[in-house]
Amino acid sequence: MEKKMQAAAKQPSGVFADCELGSGFDEEFFLLNFGTRLLTAFTDREILIDIALETLADFSRGQRIAIMSLDESGKTLKVDGAFYQNQSVRPKVTFPVEGTAAGKWISQKAVGVAPLTLEDGVPLPAESGHEGENRCLCLPLIGSSFRPVGLATIEIPTDCCFDFFEAQQLRVLSTALAVSLENAKLFSRVIHDSLTNLYTRRFYEIRVEEELAKLKRNSGHLSVILFDLDEFKKVNDSFGHLTGDEVLRQFSALMMNHVRKGSTLVSRYGGEEFILLMPDARVEEALHMAERITSLCAEHDFGDDRRKIRITVSGGVAFTDHTQAVSPAELFERADQALYEAKHKGRNRVVVWKNKSAPHRI
Ligand code: GH3
Ligand code: MG
Ligand code: MG
Repeated sequence: MEKKMQAAAKQPSGVFADCELGSGFDEEFFLLNFGTRLLTAFTDREILIDIALETLADFSRGQRIAIMSLDESGKTLKVDGAFYQNQSVRPKVTFPVEGTAAGKWISQKAVGVAPLTLEDGVPLPAESGHEGENRCLCLPLIGSSFRPVGLATIEIPTDCCFDFFEAQQLRVLSTALAVSLENAKLFSRVIHDSLTNLYTRRFYEIRVEEELAKLKRNSGHLSVILFDLDEFKKVNDSFGHLTGDEVLRQFSALMMNHVRKGSTLVSRYGGEEFILLMPDARVEEALHMAERITSLCAEHDFGDDRRKIRITVSGGVAFTDHTQAVSPAELFERADQALYEAKHKGRNRVVVWKNKSAPHRI
C-alpha cells in the first residue's frame, strides 16, 4: 500500500489518476472483500461505525476520518464517529446540510475531492481552499433506492492521489456501509418497542432461547423477573391513555436506571407487563433487583408537573440453572405463576417461584 501511495503521489494528473493492474491488486481486492463482509455482518450501529472507521483508515491514507448520517429531515448531518490519531472517537457535533459544500457533495452522490475545512476536528468539504493544503475526500453514503443516508469524509495530504481502482474500492465500501447503516436502523426499530424504547417481546424470546441453549453447554444460572403494573387500568380511566402512556415510559426509564447495563435485558412483554432477562444471575440477585424496583416504583412520583401519580408494581421471579432442562415457555410459566401469587397476596410485592414438588429455599 505504501509503495502504491508513493507511486500515486508522483502522478501529476488529477486526484483519481489512471492506473494499470499492479501487484497489490489481488491483495487489495482481498481486503475489499474482507471489509465488505465485515460491514455487512453486523446489525449493531456502534460496532458498524467502528469497523467502518478502521476499514476506511486501512484503505485510505486518511489522517482524519468522519462518518456522518443525515437526520430524518435531511437537513442536519450528525457525526456518528471519527478517527484521529489512530483512535476512534464519538464527537457530539452536527453540521447543517442546506447551502453547504457537504450538502452539495451529498446531493451529487459522487465520490470526489474538495478543499478541506476542519470543524471541531471533523474533516468537511469546503467551497474553496489554498494550494498546498490538505484536502477532503468525500464519500456520499448512498443507501437502497439510491437514497443518500450520510457522508464519510477523509482528510488526505496534498501530495496524495488515488488511482481508479482505489476510488472504486472506496465506492464499494461506502455503499456497503450505507446499506448496512440502513439495515442497522431497521433492525433497531424492529427490536425496540416504539412507546418505551425497551426491547420487544420477540427480541426477549430470541435472547432467552439463546441463553437457555448456552446453559445446556456451560454451567451457570439464569433468572427472569416478570413485572405487571398494579391496577393500571385505573390510571387510564382517571387520567386518560396519553398519561397512561407517559407512566409506562417513566416506569421503563426507572427500570433502565437501576439494572446492570449490558447484562440485564429489559423488554416490554405486552401492555403494562415487562420482563427482565438476567443471564448469569442467581435467584437471590434477581429477587434483590425485583424488590428494589418494586420499592422504588412505590416511592416514585409519576406523571408531570401538573399532577403526581403514585402506582405500584408486582413481580414474579423465576430461575433455572444448567442442571435443569427448562424451555422458554416453562421459564415464563414459572415467572407468571409467581406474579399471579404476588397479585393474589395483595400486589406491590415480589414472589419467587417455588417448585411445589421439590420446595426450594433461598
Ligand atoms: P392488575 O393489578 O390486576 O394487573 O390490574 P390492571 O388494571 O393493571 O390489569 P388489567 O389487565 O385489567 O388492565 C391493564 C390495563 O393496561 C388495561 C389497558 O388499557 C392498559 N394498557 C395496556 N397497554 C397500554 C398502553 O400501551 N398504553 C396505555 N395507556 N394503557 C395500556
Ligand atoms: Mg397485565
Ligand atoms: Mg396490571
